[in-house]
Amino acid sequence: TGSLHNKVAVVTGAGSGIGKAAAIELAKQGAHIGLVDLKEKNAEKVQKEIEHIGGQAMITDTDVSDPKRVEESIRQVAEKWGRLDIVFANAGINGKVAPIEDLEPEDWDQTLTTNLKSTFMTVKYAIPYLKEQGGSIIMTSSINGNRSFSGFGMSAYSSSKAGQMAFGKMAALELARYHIRVNMICPGAIQTNISKNTFPEKEELQKIKIPVEYPEGSQPLEHQAGSPEQVAQLVSFLASDASSHITGTEVYIDGAESLL
Ligand code: NAD
Repeated sequence: TGSLHNKVAVVTGAGSGIGKAAAIELAKQGAHIGLVDLKEKNAEKVQKEIEHIGGQAMITDTDVSDPKRVEESIRQVAEKWGRLDIVFANAGINGKVAPIEDLEPEDWDQTLTTNLKSTFMTVKYAIPYLKEQGGSIIMTSSINGNRSFSGFGMSAYSSSKAGQMAFGKMAALELARYHIRVNMICPGAIQTNISKNTFPEKEELQKIKIPVEYPEGSQPLEHQAGSPEQVAQLVSFLASDASSHITGTEVYIDGAESLL
């Protein structure tokens, strides 16, 4: 009976943080959810939570940087429920955080593949199903992709997030004829696990004179990082017909952090 009653959604990076909160919110709104994550155990917990609230979810343990597995995951979800309406391309990593001089080409490839190439592949393999009746694609970019470059040492990450925005806009143009909408969300700092173990110790940063300060607490609106649940409300809106005329745009959800 929710706004997404009987719709089918694929959520990547669904085992944790923003993806987990979004998967649960979309299920609350009545959607059936395909949970895609590297970490199957975490996805199982999310599946249980969804079933606990009377929803339906299935798991495909996929590495989103592997084209064959992405294609197969999306096929499994669409075939299980006979359709696909919503794709939340959200899986991502900070990757190696380091000054450009210390960043190796392999580090760059890992971040760009996991964050950007994966988004392209998730969209590509979803199109045959989405175009049957139209749908909504949402991708998790970041304020780092455009307005805020507060993350020194994050050149690869920021490039991947900017790339998602360019790709998403082209996809919105191309896919409008199928009535598939494509929007990007740009969170500021959100309380999740993504930054665990990725930032060098403070002393080390000072040694290389990089003033990295992950901007938690610097958000003018609430003076703290946002919650995954707040982001999930935005994802749910963009997935639903309440946003039926919105496509090709980016929505900032950062408590004005990027305006500082
Ligand atoms: P998170 O680490 O809590 O969740 C990310 C999930 O993605 C994890 O469950 C992880 O296992 C999964 N994942 C990582 N690599 C994968 C792969 N190759 N294949 C499949 N699954 C994979 O982090 P989060 O903060 O919820 O991140 C979600 C998205 O939000 C990312 O794209 C991130 O860049 C973006 N983002 C986060 C913040 C923030 O402050 N947390 C801010 C802006 C944007």
